[in-house]
Amino acid sequence: MAKKSQCDKCTGLCCRYFALPIETPETREDYDDIRWYLCHEDVTVFVEDGDWYVNIKNKCRHLTDGNHNCEIYEQRPHICRKYKHADCDFTEGEYDYELHFTNDREMAEYMRIKFDNNISEKQSARKSTPGKKKSR
Ligand code: SF4
Ligand code: SF4
Repeated sequence: MAKKSQCDKCTGLCCRYFALPIETPETREDYDDIRWYLCHEDVTVFVEDGDWYVNIKNKCRHLTDGNHNCEIYEQRPHICRKYKHADCDFTEGEYDYELHFTNDREMAEYMRIKFDNNISEKQSARKSTPGKKKSR
């Protein structure tokens, strides 16, 4: 929570999750690790400006009064103090993510397209190439 007057109209959107940067995945195993994150409830993964983040939708224990009050406002952590209300979750509206995975199935599908489509394209090219069939 940043500026009181604006935050009074909000339901503590910025206090109900936290997002951490993660390494950009490269290998299938890296993507599979992210799929594991996404097996967990209330976890999403998004890509913004080319950077990957894991997002944990878990509200701060100090957000009280129906998500309208920070009970440790005067002692709130630095990360809360530097959060700018000008471009906060309340004012910014929809995010413009490059990628957004909300569960492991979405990642599995992404991996299938990213890693397996090329293989199936090669396989179908091989199948349709005359003279490549095994003789029985
Ligand atoms: S999202 Fe913005 S308006 Fe809402 S509590 Fe956070 S800083 Fe205040
Ligand atoms: S400490 Fe206060 S300002 Fe920071 S996330 Fe928790 S409720 Fe929000």
